[in-house]
Amino acid sequence: MIVSQKKSFEEILKALGPMKKIFIIGCGECATTCKTGGEKEVLEMKKLLEEKGKAVTGWTIPDAPCIASQIKLHFAKNMKAMDEADAFLVLACGLGVQSVLDNDRRKRPVYTGTDTLFGSVLDMTGLILSERCAMCGECVLNITGGICPVTRCAKGLLNGPCGGQDKGKCEVDKDKDCAWILIYNRLKELNMLDNIKKARPAKDHSKLIKPREINIKE
Ligand code: SF4
Ligand code: SF4
Repeated sequence: MIVSQKKSFEEILKALGPMKKIFIIGCGECATTCKTGGEKEVLEMKKLLEEKGKAVTGWTIPDAPCIASQIKLHFAKNMKAMDEADAFLVLACGLGVQSVLDNDRRKRPVYTGTDTLFGSVLDMTGLILSERCAMCGECVLNITGGICPVTRCAKGLLNGPCGGQDKGKCEVDKDKDCAWILIYNRLKELNMLDNIKKARPAKDHSKLIKPREINIKE
């Protein structure tokens, strides 16, 4: 899940500047879970904008699997209301915002109402979103027992702990478990400690040269 956080309304209003007619786009997946772009947040935003004298020409909330794959359809479904707008306000992650930009033939301004934070998992309580993947392009989970050292170790170490861990906690943040102690314990449980006996080479940073792109045509 991509985690996003609301920007303040003042910041959004300032960014919109002179734009008068706005079409709002939420997201029925991650942004709904994060409470940044579900129906409640979209309708709240509509009300706030109207109170400030903006006209909201319409709104829509693309759902599963993601705004990026659904936006074309929503452009087709909301053609009239979207045509009347000077600009779009997207209450979703940065990928959603840029999907709207890429799909608007008129290339109108697109604004975001959120800050995008990280790729996360949701814990068993359904309340805590924790960073678990930085999309590093060279996944080591098969070696580390499914625990990501790139995101869970404060230093992103790939070859064991830094030596600063104390009773299993990280020296950078004592409230957090040391990722490498978690990895060690997990591999021990799985009888797979051999996985980390050999030093791993440094990461291949060529896999991180941006912007990355793949062609999904078969
Ligand atoms: S190693 Fe971690 S950051 Fe890299 S792809 Fe795997 S889960 Fe994501
Ligand atoms: S204590 Fe553990 S999690 Fe923290 S920086 Fe060192 S190795 Fe990484």
